Amino acid sequence: VSLLIRGARVVLANAPAAPRRGAALRDAMVLPCGDVLIEGGRIVEVGSVRGGAARVIEAGGRVLTPGLVDCHTHACWAGSRIDEWERKLTGVPYLEILKAGGGIMSTVRATRGAGHAALVELTSKRLGRMLRAGTTTVEVKSGYGLTGDAELGMLRAIAAAGAGFPGTVVPTALLGHAIEGEERAFVAGTIGGTLDAVHAEFPGIAVDAYCETGAWSVASTVALMARARSLGHVLRVHTDQFNALGMVQEAVRLGARSVDHLEASGDGEIEAIAGSETAAVLLPICGMHLDGRYARGRALADAGAVIAVATNHNPGSAPSGSMPVAMGAAVRGCGLTAREAIVAGTVNAAWVLGLGDRGVVTPGARADLALWDIDDERELGYRIGDLAPSHVMCGGEIAC
Ligand SMILES: [Zn+2]
Repeated sequence: VSLLIRGARVVLANAPAAPRRGAALRDAMVLPCGDVLIEGGRIVEVGSVRGGAARVIEAGGRVLTPGLVDCHTHACWAGSRIDEWERKLTGVPYLEILKAGGGIMSTVRATRGAGHAALVELTSKRLGRMLRAGTTTVEVKSGYGLTGDAELGMLRAIAAAGAGFPGTVVPTALLGHAIEGEERAFVAGTIGGTLDAVHAEFPGIAVDAYCETGAWSVASTVALMARARSLGHVLRVHTDQFNALGMVQEAVRLGARSVDHLEASGDGEIEAIAGSETAAVLLPICGMHLDGRYARGRALADAGAVIAVATNHNPGSAPSGSMPVAMGAAVRGCGLTAREAIVAGTVNAAWVLGLGDRGVVTPGARADLALWDIDDERELGYRIGDLAPSHVMCGGEIAC
């Protein structure tokens, strides 16, 4: 079945499906008025298309982007943290909230207790909202299980939710999210036991950790990453959210695909990332929701780093799965231009997930597209929370 989108303002038109940095990050390759022909789920022609198709959408100069790619979420969880958030707003210290059973461990308890069907349903609902906001590819991390069985349970729920999603769900094994019980035993059990169980059922899946004071130390994170790499896993790491502990440099040395957060990163970290293939994943909804602290996106962009933007959708620090909201926050908080934020939320994010077939509007690419009721793509970074696409296409099918 063929589909023709006629007369659109096409973003990332005929762009290579490769990470963009420096001048290429700034250039969103906009074709002011182009047609896009789709056949068999793929884009086959971009430019002036002669002839018709089984179905034609007249874009009338509206903006057509690649389907947005959210490369960092925790969209699989149960329970609510809204009471805790309200207590925090009224001045209750975070340590007191933790002592009262709040924080990440409350999400771990609720997620472990939810059961497979409920977890699939909760995740699917969130994925549906993300799709309606223009996101066609979503990474979803485990990490609220902590034990081998509970982590596998989360990964199975993520896979089941992904099977019912018209776009693509990419699972990530966030094995080093927190420490439960005695640190040395927990770290050893994760590296020696949980990782092996995940490797057996999900070979090659990206392995992630949260390296921070009070969570996984640099030494433990490096040990987990080194073993995961030896088993053939892609490496990603949450680092420098509150403290720059040296993990960025270690991640670059280990050849990690991405370093995510970076609110506390300094010049040395920025230089290390910019000189590497490791992508900087900015998560500015955290700054918006928690504390007004943002990664230095402008400095990373000017230094030539590969930058992606993601929602980090989770109950504690990012209560939104909207990529337009994340891109708007990246513009205001991290100093990216709107066009840089679009590149960071499409082709660069796809590269973080190892997907070289999307994130661009180029012949051969998967026909994941979003048509927006705007005539200037910069509105995607300018508007706050009120922008949704009129059409979302996944593999050439109109999904919503
Ligand atoms: Zn995260």
